Amino acid sequence: MKTSFYDLSYQDLFDILESRGLNTSAASLLFNWHYKKREHSPCTENVSKDNIKFIAENFDFSLPKISKVFEAQDRTVKFLFELSDGNRVETVLIPFNNKYSICLSSQVGCAMNCAFCYTGTQGLTRNLKTSEIVGQFLMAYHWLRENRPDEQRVLNIVFMGQGEPLHNFDPVKKACEIFLSSHGTSLGHQKISISTSGYIPGLKRWAEEIPGVNLALSLHSPFAAIRNELIPINKKFPLEEVLSYIDTVPLRKKQFVTYEYLVIKDFNDSAEDAHATAKLLKDKRAFVNLIPFNPFPGTDYKRPELEVVMNFKAVLDTYKIPTLVRGTKGDDVLAACGQLNSK
Ligand code: SAH
Ligand code: SF4
Repeated sequence: MKTSFYDLSYQDLFDILESRGLNTSAASLLFNWHYKKREHSPCTENVSKDNIKFIAENFDFSLPKISKVFEAQDRTVKFLFELSDGNRVETVLIPFNNKYSICLSSQVGCAMNCAFCYTGTQGLTRNLKTSEIVGQFLMAYHWLRENRPDEQRVLNIVFMGQGEPLHNFDPVKKACEIFLSSHGTSLGHQKISISTSGYIPGLKRWAEEIPGVNLALSLHSPFAAIRNELIPINKKFPLEEVLSYIDTVPLRKKQFVTYEYLVIKDFNDSAEDAHATAKLLKDKRAFVNLIPFNPFPGTDYKRPELEVVMNFKAVLDTYKIPTLVRGTKGDDVLAACGQLNSK
């Protein structure tokens, strides 16, 4: 079977060519063609005949197929991708002025089974390969180039789609290597964020293996009883332990750890919740994102009034913790946080 080109880092490709005694300059030509110019046609410019033959015989360049596109009123775009085995994942482009953040999926479904998450209700089907992660980015970009030619800049990558990225560490890590590589898309570390529910085996590898990338923790409550109910793996990987690993992650100047707090009506939205959250975070390099709960079919949780969310923010403000209330984008096409479900 052929290897997917999009599963390889620059170094992997270089090593393969070298081991075959081929001209290694093709590695940078191919990376430049497919990741910088973002072309999908075969790269032949300046590539030697031997290399062209070897590449055509050994590598596969297929990408996930866009099976549906939903365009929301606010210009958010949700893609339903079909993978080669028929499984499906979703990817969302979130507009900021004329640019976009892209929200990538890391797994088909998710094993963590969080109570408030539509993806969690579908269970884990399988991990995504690097090529399927990088492929979401490239295909969304190709779509923008064709459909919104004046707005084709994708500025940030966030791993906040379906799946727990740290539960699929190696493919996510390799995708980041490709995004970061000066031969690849050449994004800065500060442009990539990975959100985790607190999966400690992945956090243990963070500092050594994906240093510099932004870390976001789905906190949702400072209290064990409430967090256990919302995020069942909190029972296995308790918050105190999660925070102690996060505290060891080295941060650049002006870099923060983002703590996401999903605000659910009459559940974790009181002044007491806000004060306890603030006390937990006040001595950390923390940035808080308050996310009003987005309802989905079949859930009993409710979305709080904006005023309640603003009161929560006001408490954090008194502790001088930078806090943003996240607006809801794309909810008319179920593309908002936690509304992704591809079954
Ligand atoms: N698995 C990772 C990343 C994907 S979830 C994680 O849990 O962090 C990305 C974000 O969407 C998380 O902060 C998650 O808590 C949030 N989210 C999940 N369901 C949601 C919902 N129904 N409404 C709003 N945000 C939700
Ligand atoms: Fe998985 Fe994140 Fe959803 Fe929890 S919130 S079920 S970890 S995708």
